[in-house]
Order: sequence, then C-alpha cells, then structure tokens
Amino acid sequence: FTILGIETSCDDTGCAVIDGAGNVLGESLYSQNAIHVRYGGVNPFIAHELHREHIETAVTEALSTAKIKIKDIDAVAVTVKPGLLLSLQVGVQYAKYICMEYNKPIIPVHHMEAHALVARIYHNLPFPFIVLLISGGHCLLCLVQDVNQFFLLGESLDNAPGEILDKVARRMKLKNIKEYSQLAGGKAVEEAAKKANNSQQFQFPLPLNRNRDCNFSFSGLKDSLVRKLIKKEKEHGITGDCLIPEYNDLCASFQIALAEHLGHRLERAIIFCEEKNLINPNNKNIVVSGGVACNDFIFKSMQFVAGKSGYSCYRPPPKVCTDNGIMIAWNGVEKLKKSYQIQYDLPLSEIDPIAPLGKSLIHEVK
Ligand code: ATP
Ligand code: FE
Repeated sequence: FTILGIETSCDDTGCAVIDGAGNVLGESLYSQNAIHVRYGGVNPFIAHELHREHIETAVTEALSTAKIKIKDIDAVAVTVKPGLLLSLQVGVQYAKYICMEYNKPIIPVHHMEAHALVARIYHNLPFPFIVLLISGGHCLLCLVQDVNQFFLLGESLDNAPGEILDKVARRMKLKNIKEYSQLAGGKAVEEAAKKANNSQQFQFPLPLNRNRDCNFSFSGLKDSLVRKLIKKEKEHGITGDCLIPEYNDLCASFQIALAEHLGHRLERAIIFCEEKNLINPNNKNIVVSGGVACNDFIFKSMQFVAGKSGYSCYRPPPKVCTDNGIMIAWNGVEKLKKSYQIQYDLPLSEIDPIAPLGKSLIHEVK
C-alpha cells in the first residue's frame, strides 16, 4: 500500500509518499528556516502564512515525484500534535479536505513518535528500544515498546537542545559569517566547532550532575556560555556585530559539554531499563533522532556511551532527523500495519499543541 504523509507542525511544510516497506516514492520539503533566522526565531504568524502558501504545491510535488494520483493513495497520515497551533491546523485541514474529497482514511500522528519510529525504515530495530529525541522543541528519553506504546524516562526541565543551540548561535553572531548565514543554529555551531584549535579551552559545568533520574537541563550551560562570551568580548574590546576571535573554540567546547550531559543521562536510562528488565538482553538498541541528531559529534558521543554498555546506536539519515514528511508517512504505515481503528475524518479538537509523549515513568526513574 501507499501512504501520503503531511507535516506542518512548526516551520517546515513536508510531504512524502511511501510504500509499506518504507520506500520513499516521492517527497517535497518547503523549509522556512532561512526566513525565520532573519527574525531571530520562528514567528507563528509567518509560519502559518507560508504553510498555507506551500501546502498544495508540497502535496502535489510529493505525488507527482511518486508518479501517483491522490485517488490511488491508501491513506493520509498527518501531524496533529504537538507543535504550533496555527501551523498544525494548515496540515490537518488540508489532509481532512483530501480524505473527504477522495474518501481516504486519515491517520493522526504524534510528531515526536514519528521522529522516533522513522529510524525503523533504515535499521532493523525490533521493539523495545531506547530513544533519545533531541530537537528544536524537545529533549526526551523514552522506552519505545510498540508503535503506540511510549514510556517517558526523562525530559528537559527547561529548554530543548536545538533551541539552546539556536540561541547560542545567535548570541555568538555566527550568522554574520557568510557561509553560516542560512544555516540552522545547531548546524552553524557544528561547522564552527570543526574549525576549532583548542576544544578544551572553555570548561562547562555538568548539569544535574548529582541527579539520578534521566532529566535534562540546558539553561545553565547557555548562561555559562554567555558569561564566557561577555568576558572575552570585554577582553578584546568587542562591540556591535563582531565575533570574538575564539568563537570556533567556544563552539567546540560547548558542543562537548552538550554531548557530555546527553551521554550522562543516556547512561542513566540504560541503567534504569536494565534494572527493571525492560530491554531484551539479546537486542540492545538505542535510537537518536530529532534535528540535533544531525550533529555528527553529538551522535558519535552517544554511540560511544551506548557501546560501553553493549548497545548499538542508530539514527535516521540527517535529512530525516529534522522535520520531514517521510517520518509522518512512515508512522501511518506502522499504524496501518497494526490495523488500529480506521477513521475517515478527524475532529479539529484532536489538534494539540502541547501533547506529552507516552505514559510517564519519570517518577519511578531514580
Ligand atoms: P520538535 O521536533 O521538538 O517539535 P523541531 O521540529 O522544530 O522541534 P527539528 O526540526 O527536529 O525541531 O530540529 C531543528 C533543530 O535542530 C534546530 O534547533 C537546529 O538548530 C537543530 N539542528 C539542525 N542541524 C543541526 C546540527 N548539525 N547540529 C546540531 N543541531 C542541529
Ligand atoms: Fe521536529
């Protein structure tokens, strides 16, 4: 069978047509990143306008590259939560319209579940597995027990790592470097870090060092970076739009601090799952996904941590780590294979900007 996936939860209009085996038959992606970078963050009203402008083209393009007509699609999967209300509405309304017009089943998708499960297209990953979701809006550690069974092990107490990287990139004025001006904050930090001479130059505290749970906190790291930056700016007498000369080193040191914190919490999740016998000892897998998983240094650090406990660590290809239609279509495939209840319409009340992921184990995780 073939599924059309539609993603509009934040600032990317992404569509894809895939088959039951996860082959991507056609896709399209209209990213608004370059526009929002100019405004210093995602503007919900601009995002809404641009989704409305692109949605029809994005769907048509995914179908035409797949050489398939809407009438031959078996179902439409669409992100209903979590995300920006106005953005979610555009995708859901368009999916509802198609399903009504062509009498197709509609499959509501949780954006974070889709980020987690899409790795199963590319790697042999039986349930259960541990997933670390690191993105622009979330930082979550979950045990994935089935397509619709997620147990939350830990989450961020403040910001998300992608959000922090975007803020750090802005504060460091990385977009004034021409090659970085169009890049997502996290990508700009990664590129700058690659050029570092001394990645040990700046030291950061390890957040929640003494907590035995699996939660995260990033605001202290950001504050620490800003203090170091201000100190260096004073030292060099820098004002206005100039960067400090050590910006590459500062990016590299910060990236190490982020990876250490993420790895530390991942270790806690592994210990907890093993103590409770939640993992199959013959199939120990970890998935890292979400936009920040594109970061090679961070991903390799997670592979290292996983490897120490005998786990394999996987991620989807980078362009599938950030928002895309493929992961939404794949979630539709997974749900259809499990033959959950089939519906032909969706009440708009299913749109939920702040939907938590899975049943919480947080209070037990210590
Ligand atoms: P959420 O999925 O939580 O709703 P989102 O969909 O906005 O948030 P994603 O598209 O998954 O987030 O990821 C976007 C984030 O990924 C941005 O914050 C961006 O800075 C970050 N990012 C992209 N590339 C990289 C990279 N190479 N290294 C680190 N971070 C990156
Ligand atoms: Fe996302």
